Amino acid sequence: MNDVVKILGVKINKITLEETVEKVKNFLKDDSSTKPKTIFTPNTEIVMEARKNSDLKGILNHSDLVIPDGIGLVYASRIKKKSLPERVTGYDLSLKMIELAEKEGYSLYLLGCKDGVAKEASEKLLEKHPNLKIAGYHHGYFKGTHIGHKGHEEEKHVIDKINKSNADILFVGLGAPKQEIWINENKDKLNCKVVIGNGGTIDHLAERLKRAPEIYQKLGIEWLYRLIKEPKRIKRQIALPLFVLIVLFSRKKTVE
Ligand code: UDP
Repeated sequence: MNDVVKILGVKINKITLEETVEKVKNFLKDDSSTKPKTIFTPNTEIVMEARKNSDLKGILNHSDLVIPDGIGLVYASRIKKKSLPERVTGYDLSLKMIELAEKEGYSLYLLGCKDGVAKEASEKLLEKHPNLKIAGYHHGYFKGTHIGHKGHEEEKHVIDKINKSNADILFVGLGAPKQEIWINENKDKLNCKVVIGNGGTIDHLAERLKRAPEIYQKLGIEWLYRLIKEPKRIKRQIALPLFVLIVLFSRKKTVE
């Protein structure tokens, strides 16, 4: 297919932020399906993880939309002449979804983060978007599929709360790959229209995590800023140079 690129076996949509927003608009308008549309936002580290984890790869490849959150993915696609048009971060898309929800009257549910953070995020959101409908929020530290407790009572309770809220859009921020696993297992039980696994977005909305200064964002080196702030991320970030080496030198087709 021409509208996707496969990087190390993971399907990524060839799509700009603006086109992504159009797709989301269509997902929200689509009344023909009872299942929510799923959106994932992998960065380079997650694609590297999916290379070894076929369950995760399958989850990403069976979703409705996968956007390239990492600049490494965009570079890899360009090196191999299968250009992804631009980096589309989960955070930027989430901000656009919030604007869309406010404008068109869709309601939003926030699931994830430590207790109190999603509440704080919704309060901050309402300051900036007074007409936004927040359907509800719940922290991400309940027993559920993402931590090996599939079908646990606590998970059922969370799903019930989300469904009773009648939310149209669900943000799931449980970290990767927990959020991908949770969404995949529970998507058929949810009655919202769109679910996005968007990592630290709720933390950012609560202004708990500061995004890297703009210069880091422009140069595509937010990872460097995060590494300086949290040196223990080195283990995960080792995936980046390894990724470049694999894309350039593997005998197997790495980008197709
Ligand atoms: N998180 C959560 N439940 C969990 C694990 C993580 O709600 O079981 C939240 C965590 O509080 C944070 C977000 O998910 O707000 C991202 O977590 P982490 O930093 O581990 O993810 P990463 O940035 O490594 O993807």
